[in-house]
Amino acid sequence: MAGPEIDRLIQLLAKLPGLGPRSARRAALQLIRRKESLMEPLAKALAEAAQAIRICSVCGNIDTQDPCAICADPCRDARTICVVEQVADLWALERTGQFKGRYHVLGGTLSALDGVGPDELRIPALIARARREGAAEVILATNATVEGQTTAHYIAEGLAGSGVAVTGLAHGVPVGGELDYLDDGTLLAALRARRAVNP
Ligand SMILES: [Zn+2]
Repeated sequence: MAGPEIDRLIQLLAKLPGLGPRSARRAALQLIRRKESLMEPLAKALAEAAQAIRICSVCGNIDTQDPCAICADPCRDARTICVVEQVADLWALERTGQFKGRYHVLGGTLSALDGVGPDELRIPALIARARREGAAEVILATNATVEGQTTAHYIAEGLAGSGVAVTGLAHGVPVGGELDYLDDGTLLAALRARRAVNP
């Protein structure tokens, strides 16, 4: 249909969330139509972002600095650590503008089926960090899925007896609901009404 470079562009665009082959073709055409005002700046932004990305060695957040801006911010309470599955969840909580603690990004959930164990998820790092930094509270903000809750339970067991209060988001997070899809008010209510998690 088009040259191999354009085919390749469409194939790559189709891998983005929310874009199937049809919308990828439309996006590619739009990029080509707006070559100077959109396609070239986008290509530059992609290349620069790819160069600049750093994964925070403390919390697993994505930033262009390591430690990330949140870990490096002395105004953020280092004694409250909110545990999330993905960076998208961290962004969702940051959007509320109300959480003043720090984060720990697991990078997924425990899954025997997919061969994902604690070591693949920064869980040992979290437990070591909570002890090392003298955390007062670890908030488990994993998703309300079976995997998310299994992971939360495993972490709560790992922190048992460490003197760290372990809490979870209150009901209000729909079952299977990813934090990123919640509106800010619902997320904030779930965060504020958090309750103790017993291992
Ligand atoms: Zn960080």
